[in-house]
Amino acid sequence: MALVSEYFGCLSFDDTAMKQRLPRDTYRSLKKTIDENKELDINVANIVANAMKDWAIEKGCTHFTHWFQPMTGVTAEKHDSFISPIGDGKIIMEFSGKELVRGEPDASSFPSGGLRATFEDRGYTAWDPTSYAFIKDNTLCIPTAFCSYGGEALDKKTPLLRSMKAIDTQAMRILRLFDPHTNVACVRTSVGPEQEYFLIPREMYDKRKDLIYTGRTLFGAKPPKGQELEDHYFGAIKSKVKEFMRDLDEELWKLGVHAKTEHNEGAPAQHELAPIFTQANIATDHNQMTMEMMQKVAKQHDLVCLLHEKPFGGITGSGKHNNWSMATNTGVNLLTPGETPYENAQFLLFLCAVIKAVDEYQDLLRISAATAGNDHRLGANEAPPAVISIFLGDELSAILDALETETHYDPKEAAQLQLGVDTLPRLPKDNTDRNRTSPFAFTGNKFEFRMVGSSNSISSCNTVLNTAVAESLRQFADILEVAEDFHTSLNTLIRDTIKEHKRIIFNGNGYDDAWIREATEVRGLLNLKTTPDALPYYLSAKNIRLFTTHNVYNETEMRSRYEIMLENYSKTINIEAATMADMVYKGILPAITSYSREICDTGLSKKSLGIPADYETGLAQKLTSLTEAIVAGVTRLETHTREAAQIHDVTDLAFFIRDKVVTDLETLRLSVDEAESLVASKYWPYPTYSDLLFGVR
Ligand code: ADP
Ligand code: MG
Repeated sequence: MALVSEYFGCLSFDDTAMKQRLPRDTYRSLKKTIDENKELDINVANIVANAMKDWAIEKGCTHFTHWFQPMTGVTAEKHDSFISPIGDGKIIMEFSGKELVRGEPDASSFPSGGLRATFEDRGYTAWDPTSYAFIKDNTLCIPTAFCSYGGEALDKKTPLLRSMKAIDTQAMRILRLFDPHTNVACVRTSVGPEQEYFLIPREMYDKRKDLIYTGRTLFGAKPPKGQELEDHYFGAIKSKVKEFMRDLDEELWKLGVHAKTEHNEGAPAQHELAPIFTQANIATDHNQMTMEMMQKVAKQHDLVCLLHEKPFGGITGSGKHNNWSMATNTGVNLLTPGETPYENAQFLLFLCAVIKAVDEYQDLLRISAATAGNDHRLGANEAPPAVISIFLGDELSAILDALETETHYDPKEAAQLQLGVDTLPRLPKDNTDRNRTSPFAFTGNKFEFRMVGSSNSISSCNTVLNTAVAESLRQFADILEVAEDFHTSLNTLIRDTIKEHKRIIFNGNGYDDAWIREATEVRGLLNLKTTPDALPYYLSAKNIRLFTTHNVYNETEMRSRYEIMLENYSKTINIEAATMADMVYKGILPAITSYSREICDTGLSKKSLGIPADYETGLAQKLTSLTEAIVAGVTRLETHTREAAQIHDVTDLAFFIRDKVVTDLETLRLSVDEAESLVASKYWPYPTYSDLLFGVR
């Protein structure tokens, strides 16, 4: 068997491949582009394209594609072959710098939220040279950003790249204040997303239209065993799953994805994969590749990988923990408490920037995780509550308290502490938090945002985080750059920031009702329970100002995104409604009817022989009343879906769908689940929760 170190990254045109295959000058200019965001010369692009093509052809490629991330949330590609005719019926394999840096897919079939009406249908994709090209299915994939001809972002990657630039600019201003001669060239955000998923037998999946069309089960009676014994979390991995994980790791490693940790999660059939963190745009690309690869490898093992946030009612859903920090190109993590007072002061300022950002833009963070699927998780005592707060741990909180009140943190160190920030005590480095109820936790040298849904792209939350923190840093730099005395201003700034934003810090149990009351009633924090509650905040004046100030979105782009997010919500639930109605009419009602007939026939036969038939009579009556409830429920669902079709305003529609259709789906499910628990297995046409959750052996 080949050594991992030998094949790692063999399908990625990474630094090693570049070094090997590019003339030294070309390699150097490309490196400059990658490391320092310098513009790429077309001559350099031509040489890179040619080298990439030769590399790809040697590995069996015939095609290339610009690989991008439109607003659908999944990746898109349009394949072109390398062939170029040279006359006499002959061809050569060609790939130019122009083809590498720019592509022109037809933009008209992707969601544009009104941008389509105002702009041309055509869009273009632009190479992101900081994310390595890779090979998938004999195709050279070039990670790109996707924009309209007017330059409007039509994808999830462009804003992320813009936000990385914003935080870089502002963080550099701060670093230069601490050290005018700093050798740091840029600051990037690092991200490590932990990905949860379910694995179920393909054979069972194929029999459930709800899983096929909506990604989740729309009904399903509670199995005799769920997760109550808590025996799955970190439990021994079944051999079939182990084989899947081994193949998945291998595929990801070939692509240069640092898949690191694999374990069972809390629910039966639930697992997690965590990669080693990397810079935000690459982490986002890699996470998309990971999700795609999970589904592909699962198929090869006769399994299906479910990435939906809540595939099973009553069973913990799946999320994605987005670990985030800021680091310099020289490898210094700006969220690591330092060894010296000077480093600590800098750490505290960056920490305060995050605290301020999360408090001021809690709505945007909530929105970055708002989808129809994730609404089933947030606030359901299995994922963080819908209220955003920050967990800092007792020690760091105590230090911030001391700074705010200008009191001593530790009496033993009183003498040193008088100057506050300047002489902050050394902080414990392994501040690993085990408070799983916090949506936003400081875990020693990074923050972990735990709201994101398992199927979401992590670009949205990182775009918000980067931009909001950039804004805090911008305000800090504006003050500090003109300060008469840097250290005095710094102390005041940190103290004022803590005072103003400490309401967002909470170290207790996020699931506690008392916390939700305190958060909303005393602290004035937002509790945006569902997607329609959250989304309207997107377009508030402060949020438009934030994104436009930092050139992450213009107002038109924001309006279009708002529409897309709302439409997405309503469409998702409409599909669920249509699927549920279909399954009720074609599978569930016929099953109940057939079974009822058998019961009635048996009852009649018994009675004709003078044998009591109380059981049959009682069951038949129960099934009849359930049938009536199901028919009434599905009729109500259809009526509301029809009414919804008449509502044209996207916001009104989303609220109507939430209040009526979502409720109808939940009510209908109750009767269906009860029926499932009564109908004999041989009549029930769908795999049960036991089949789905315990079917992989
Ligand atoms: P857990 O949260 O399960 O205890 P860890 O905290 O060790 O696991 O790591 C979770 C994820 O956080 C991993 O993907 C890891 O690479 C990532 N991570 C670790 N350090 C950083 C950092 N400085 N910035 C961003 N992500 C990080
Ligand atoms: Mg974690």
